Amino acid sequence: MSLAGVLVFADLSSGSLDDAGKGILAEGRRLAETLGAPWAAACFAGAPDGAYEAMRPYGVPEVLDIRGPEELADLPCAQAEALADAARACGARVVLLAHDDPGATLAPRIAARLGAALFTEAVSFSRDWDGLTVRRRAVGVQVVEQRLWNEAAPGGGSPYGRRDEPTPLVLTMLPRVLSAAVVPGMRPGPARRTARLAAVSEAGAATRVRARIPPDPRTVDVAEAQVIFAAGLGCDRESFAQLCELADRVGASVGVSRPVYDLGWKELPRMIGQTGKTVGPRLYFAWGISGSMHHLGGIGGSRRIVCLNADPKAPIFPAADEGFVADLREVLPRLLAAVGARAQRDGEREVAG
Ligand SMILES: Cc1cc2nc3c(=O)[nH]c(=O)nc-3n(C[C@H](O)[C@H](O)[C@H](O)COP(=O)(O)OP(=O)(O)OC[C@H]3O[C@@H](n4cnc5c(N)ncnc54)[C@H](O)[C@@H]3O)c2cc1C
Repeated sequence: MSLAGVLVFADLSSGSLDDAGKGILAEGRRLAETLGAPWAAACFAGAPDGAYEAMRPYGVPEVLDIRGPEELADLPCAQAEALADAARACGARVVLLAHDDPGATLAPRIAARLGAALFTEAVSFSRDWDGLTVRRRAVGVQVVEQRLWNEAAPGGGSPYGRRDEPTPLVLTMLPRVLSAAVVPGMRPGPARRTARLAAVSEAGAATRVRARIPPDPRTVDVAEAQVIFAAGLGCDRESFAQLCELADRVGASVGVSRPVYDLGWKELPRMIGQTGKTVGPRLYFAWGISGSMHHLGGIGGSRRIVCLNADPKAPIFPAADEGFVADLREVLPRLLAAVGARAQRDGEREVAG
């Protein structure tokens, strides 16, 4: 195994490398270049070869393939132990993870085991003379908090670390700032696979995942939602109820503009914008939202923005990838009827089959 200044955790638990996984590899490479250090990726073995192949475009020089008993997949403490061991073994100064469910679960546990500094939900980093500056958004999106990590500073206040050693860093980055794009100049890497064996200690088996429940679009935090139908003041009470029903039927999460929150139709955590939540879904569909700068301030991270508005001059249109000039009071009942008819056809087919 070669030395790695930066160790990136690539989550292959779904059997493939998802966009957050690709994005964190791209950032890992950038971080290694920023620090002028070597880098490697670590993952838990068991995924099909295609998942490893998907790492090639990001030029990962080496993948540490951590093998352990089957139960390892359900033991986050044991996984953290294995990753901390891998980081120590390859001399990693920074362990980088996406701030998704697995990353957010593992990062503090790895940091505790390495006696490392922990910085979560970063949106960017850069290097200056004093060290590595990492940034995240605070107080909604209105303040940027910066922290400086000086890799040379000794620390290790935890029982696991030693005070005379430089403090490593465990860093997580928000999935919505990660891009899976392969940028020019990124040469595909050989992605050499090195097997590492992990044992499960008594402490590692202390916490066990009993069930994995997929997120419910009706209750998931809008900041994490993948598809959002957002209602603006163009909705009246009746069309708002229809929009909620449509969202429910197609598996979208409901968000609102500030005036709709002010009307009391949805609770504060569903308000989107500068003073509300910052979102980054795959699809953001704005229904009867004008597109004020205060609202647009919270939706810029969306992969695709679609809007429907009766006024073709509404400022939401230039900010959208696709827009429809229409009256939502006419469109919503027709969409609901179409979705209902389709559900009925599907139901009949299932019974017949
Ligand atoms: C400090 C500050 C912070 C703020 N923070 C936020 C924030 O976090 N989030 C936020 O959303 N706002 C925020 N606001 C308020 C913001 O400035 C706007 O007032 C608000 O976003 C407008 O909401 P809206 O688009 O739903 O309503 P409107 O601006 O009233 O727009 C309604 C839209 O619906 C369209 N429409 C009307 N009828 C129909 C129909 N039948 N079919 C289709 N379209 C129709 C209209 O053409 C119009 O474009 C903030 C304001 C301030 C001063």
